[in-house]
Amino acid sequence: MSRAFQSLLPLSRNRIDRDHLSRSNPELLDERWRGPDSRVLVLHRGQALATAGANPADYDGFGPKPTVAVHPTLDLRSPADLPASVLQHLDAGGVRLYLGFALDASEGLSIDAPLFAISVTDADASALETPGSSWLNLRMVAADLDDVSAGMFTEALAMFNWHSTHTHCPRCGEVTVVESGGWVRRCPREDIELFPRTDPAIIVGVVDRDDRILLGSNALWENNRYSLLAGFVEPGESLEAAAIREIAEESGVIIDDPEYVGSQPWPFPASLMVGFMARVTEEHPAALRPDGDEILDLRWFTREQLADPASGVLLPGSSSIARAIIERWYGGPLPEPEQQ
Ligand SMILES: [Zn+2]
Repeated sequence: MSRAFQSLLPLSRNRIDRDHLSRSNPELLDERWRGPDSRVLVLHRGQALATAGANPADYDGFGPKPTVAVHPTLDLRSPADLPASVLQHLDAGGVRLYLGFALDASEGLSIDAPLFAISVTDADASALETPGSSWLNLRMVAADLDDVSAGMFTEALAMFNWHSTHTHCPRCGEVTVVESGGWVRRCPREDIELFPRTDPAIIVGVVDRDDRILLGSNALWENNRYSLLAGFVEPGESLEAAAIREIAEESGVIIDDPEYVGSQPWPFPASLMVGFMARVTEEHPAALRPDGDEILDLRWFTREQLADPASGVLLPGSSSIARAIIERWYGGPLPEPEQQ
């Protein structure tokens, strides 16, 4: 795996020491929470409170991302400054998620600052807003955030997505309680621990013998949007087997020996995207057969075709591992099509 490739993935940045040893020490966690440098990321309905920046309007994640006038800045609060109603909610069993220590300093954040995250109700979200506040969508702003902010937001969103669907024990239905700084939910009836889950999905840059890349257009997308083929790993299946199966199912193309290139968390709501490159097998010439269900159109693209601004093809944006894999094959950043 190339370190350079991994550095191209905005949601894989992680300048946070997750400090897992402190999670199981409630006194230490309280001490960290009360420390003068500690900071809290506030989420509401999956979006993060910010002092600056906005979600780009009318952007669906494909093609050129609108240029940002103001770089997004998360509104990290000191625990001591949180409204009483927020603290009451946390005391009543709400999730006070410990993210770890900041490994970089930035505006309003010192190095080694303990970092927490909370998710607030509609009423508390309004109470926390100040003039100029905004709520940011990670998928839309990830590439414009600094390293610590991107790592915090990704970690917190993934964890709160898990918490929101694991309020009850999957075995007996009992209400679960939060432990270990938010990293465990315990079923008190059975005394079992439930751990956060992540769902692996593979995404593959398939190339043919002429070194063209295979892109598909999804049934859910508007016209001219093309990306790599991808799909979830099934239980009892290796990553490589999933890559071979998904490409065959969605395109009729047979690949062998998929090679791992890198991975990126994709907490929308709970995926880990695992990237591969693969070649079409010699025995199976490239007869494309879109599944007609998920994938409506499939095409092999040359580098010249993708670089041609007149092609009108819209590729996934800079937050996605799809973009990074396509550019890895291309050999550098692709020019953006001319904006309408
Ligand atoms: Zn149970």
